[in-house]
Amino acid sequence: AANARGHISITGVTKYFGRHKALDEVSLELEPGSVTVILGPSGSGKSTLLRAINHLERVDEGFIQIDGDYIGYQRRGDRLYELKEKAILRQRTEVGYVFQNFNLFPHLTVLENIIEAPIVHKKLTRPQAIERALELLDTVGLRHKADAWPRQLSGGQQQRVAIARALALNPRVILFDEPTSALDPELVGEVLDVIRSLAQSGVTLVVVTHEIGFAREVADQIVFMVDGKIVEQGNARQVISAPQHPRTRRFLANVL
Ligand code: ADP
Ligand code: MG
Repeated sequence: AANARGHISITGVTKYFGRHKALDEVSLELEPGSVTVILGPSGSGKSTLLRAINHLERVDEGFIQIDGDYIGYQRRGDRLYELKEKAILRQRTEVGYVFQNFNLFPHLTVLENIIEAPIVHKKLTRPQAIERALELLDTVGLRHKADAWPRQLSGGQQQRVAIARALALNPRVILFDEPTSALDPELVGEVLDVIRSLAQSGVTLVVVTHEIGFAREVADQIVFMVDGKIVEQGNARQVISAPQHPRTRRFLANVL
């Protein structure tokens, strides 16, 4: 659709760390409002790919576009020019990022954690930002914790605050890098439930996770990476129920 936001196009992306190829000609389309789950063994390049989508890593070859805009670059004629830091920061606010370890500011309350970025980057007034933050806390079921400190919350609650914080910038895309890996098993469900409800909201989601049940149920597209390459890609039925690549089969045998 013409007004759909959050289309990400990744074309031939290669990224080296020294002589190590962390991403090897990765190409991938993320449709607006879709949910993509990335699976793969440790070290296969999943985090590097998310970081490249957020321009936290500069890629060596290829390019990434969000709704036609080059991430970190601007096209002039047939050449790409790197954006200035401020423009990169502005672009980055279109992409929310939720990390394994929540990364809340420990010296700010729950509410202050959420309103900081919208005041700085979206020029919301403090009352506007507070109103929006309280709505988002309602969405993740934590309005009653608005004045708490992060250390007073469980891991699952902290991660739900981190998701509310990402949503506060009204991003087109949210990237989740193993959002439940640091949680006690009984807290995983509450975070997956929030992500599941976001999947209905029209924002494009990319989720790196080993939660196969979640992937099977929520993903429109599942991507399996090994050694910086996408070796298998398709819907849940194709990738989880009938994996073709031996590495996918071995991985699934270990996590299922
Ligand atoms: P995954 O998230 O799938 O576990 P990563 O994207 O973190 O994998 O890492 C892919 C590969 O790149 C690994 O071999 C890792 O050691 C390497 N790597 C990641 N980040 C860096 C870095 N900043 N410097 C050097 N090597 C890195
Ligand atoms: Mg990782």
